[in-house]
This record gives sequence, C-alpha cells and structure tokens, in this order.
Amino acid sequence: MTALFPFLTAADVKSLRQAAGMVDAVRAGRTPADWEWALQHAAFPGTQQSTPIIFGLDVIQHAEGGDQLEFLLQVVWVDPGRLAVDAAVNVACWCETDHATHDVDTLRLVVDEETPLPAAFLAGAVRLTGWLTDPHDADHWRATAGLPSRMID
Ligand SMILES: [Zn+2]
Repeated sequence: MTALFPFLTAADVKSLRQAAGMVDAVRAGRTPADWEWALQHAAFPGTQQSTPIIFGLDVIQHAEGGDQLEFLLQVVWVDPGRLAVDAAVNVACWCETDHATHDVDTLRLVVDEETPLPAAFLAGAVRLTGWLTDPHDADHWRATAGLPSRMID
C-alpha cells in the first residue's frame, strides 16, 4: 500500500485494509476476489487511452452464455496529482449495435483535502458491498438502465 500510495499514513493504510476486508467479507464462501494493483501506475504514468488504474478489484458475478456482470472498485488517476475512487456495475451489451459493455451504475469520488483517499475508498467499498450483497443478474441491471435484455434463442 505504501509503495502504491507513498503519502498514506499508517492509520490510512489500516483504514484502506479495513475497507478492503469489508468487501472480502461479503464475498466469503464464494470465489475470493482478487485485488490487483499496478506499481507502474504509482506515479502518474502520463495521459493514456484508458484510465490508469493503481489498485482495485473486479468481481465477475455471472459469465454464462456470453453474458457478463461485473462489479468494480478502483483507485485511478484523473489528472497528474489527482486520484479518484471509481465504483461501477458493468454489464455485457445486447444492443443491436455492439457496445461490448455498459456501466449501468457508477460512483466517482475525486480525492481531495475534504475527501482523502481512505474516506473515498471506504465510500466506494460501501457501495460495492451493497451491490455484492444484492447483486441481481445482468438482465436486472440492463432493465434498470433501459438497455435491451439478452436474446434467448
Ligand atoms: Zn449497448
């Protein structure tokens, strides 16, 4: 954690671990979710095509018949010197035009003096835990977002 986020205090690291533990606890008894990190993104890596992710979790809840439902919690770079915590529900696209996937519910908390990283991460972890406690299925999320359902043939 301190390699990824050198500015964190010991108390901050403890807070991040507790928030991550809360997510792990809701996953207990199922396939443990893998936390991933990118040390090469600890410092702002420059403008890239995709948002540079420093640390996070991607829980794939359903992946049958080409369908997909993912829950994400990520610490990302927004700009040099500015981090954000992103949480998202992502579903496979079944539109006539293939968009691959859609984010159907998202939360972005930009890290600043009022919302330090541990607070933003905790808020993201709370949101993710809520989703994971009541995950529904991908069709539920698509219906909520007004997206077409999967064709059953
Ligand atoms: Zn689509």
